[in-house]
Amino acid sequence: PKVPNDLSAFWMPFTANRQFKKAPRMFVGAKDMHYTTADGREVLDGTAGLWCCNAGHCRPKITEAIQKQAAELDYAPAFQMGHPRAFELASALRDIAPEGMEHVFFTNSGSESVETALKIALAYHRARGEGHRTRLVGREKGYHGVNFGGISVGGITNNKRMFPSLPNVTHIPATHLKENAFSRGQPEHGADLADELERQAAIYGGETIAACIVEPVAGSAGVILPPKGYLERLRAICDRHGILLIFDEVITGFGRMGAPFAAQRFGVMPDLITCAKGLTSGVIPMGAVLATSAIHDAFMEGPEHVIEFFHGYTYSGTPIAAAAGLATLETYKEEGLFERALEMEEYWGDAVHSLADHPHVIDVRNLGLIGAIELEPIAGEPTKRAFSAFLDAYEKGILIRTTGDIIAMSPPLIIEKAHIDQLVGTLSDVLKRVH
Ligand code: PMP
Repeated sequence: PKVPNDLSAFWMPFTANRQFKKAPRMFVGAKDMHYTTADGREVLDGTAGLWCCNAGHCRPKITEAIQKQAAELDYAPAFQMGHPRAFELASALRDIAPEGMEHVFFTNSGSESVETALKIALAYHRARGEGHRTRLVGREKGYHGVNFGGISVGGITNNKRMFPSLPNVTHIPATHLKENAFSRGQPEHGADLADELERQAAIYGGETIAACIVEPVAGSAGVILPPKGYLERLRAICDRHGILLIFDEVITGFGRMGAPFAAQRFGVMPDLITCAKGLTSGVIPMGAVLATSAIHDAFMEGPEHVIEFFHGYTYSGTPIAAAAGLATLETYKEEGLFERALEMEEYWGDAVHSLADHPHVIDVRNLGLIGAIELEPIAGEPTKRAFSAFLDAYEKGILIRTTGDIIAMSPPLIIEKAHIDQLVGTLSDVLKRVH
């Protein structure tokens, strides 16, 4: 494709992309583990796009399924009628979901999944006659998308500053502790941070809290892993007070943790799971909320006085998105990609931790096929060190992601050992020169 020389011309009409103007970078193609840049270079994708292209790029099976579906049945309303692909995808999701997650609500993004799950949680208690449960608890540093509910329960302070929060939202502390630095896998310290939920239940009354939402592994805040026993403790506190536990698995879902969902990896069963991204390997906007039967039934039936309760989007489970989702799940299964993520975990962990001794590195974290290198921020210039590493890495042919002064990596699950060597080898060169 022809691309104008002055890429900054693209700045004006596309308002989402702030850093583009500072350093324009444009992708024009992709295949498997690589992107092709506008100037014809190959860049190794160390981030699966935005944590989403878990099956790799432009996989023929997924592309062909989309083309075939688009030619056969482009759209069908999901209200009063249906179409087979959505039902097939819902069943395929149920097959890989943690036991007891029997129902699927389709959405179009991670943000929509979060809003939907929060709404279901509030409505569930109301339908059961527990209308006083209006509180929501999130976690500091949590990222749950860009809409009102998600920003409110989220804990990325920059995102919250410009908006009033939903009322009755509180937060429990993040589990990012200095004493956990350089842990392999789940860290040892901090399970007791979950007890803040118990404390809040004592202050506000456990019976006023509708739900607690956490990312099992906080991705966007820079890969913050749950300390051993932490999620179990949250589960127990929720059970004690009838609080619904929501796992936001938009990043951790679909194999990233070496299991279909983090819930299975950690052996902790939430009441609701939100997902998106890897559901269609990033190809088509689609998300889902998985729910137990008890929650689904209460939500859909509603309280007695509400006639014909309604929930759904125009684009809930459209034929093309559902076809993409089905082809994606088949690809994961045929290629054993969730198991592969687990098999590669040790090699990946060794590689990422080999960067621990580089200058300015103050923490290294890993689990499944996710990793983070945390750099000491330059005083008064936060994000500068990691962002300069990102730019240098990009010039050297690898795509990483930075959030604050943390370098995050989440490669497609098809990654080979040679790719890991290239990714970490290049990053090593970059980190040696970072100042
Ligand atoms: N929740 C989590 C945990 C996420 O990581 C993200 C996206 N990074 C979202 C929600 C929002 O998803 P989307 O960008 O698709 O709206």
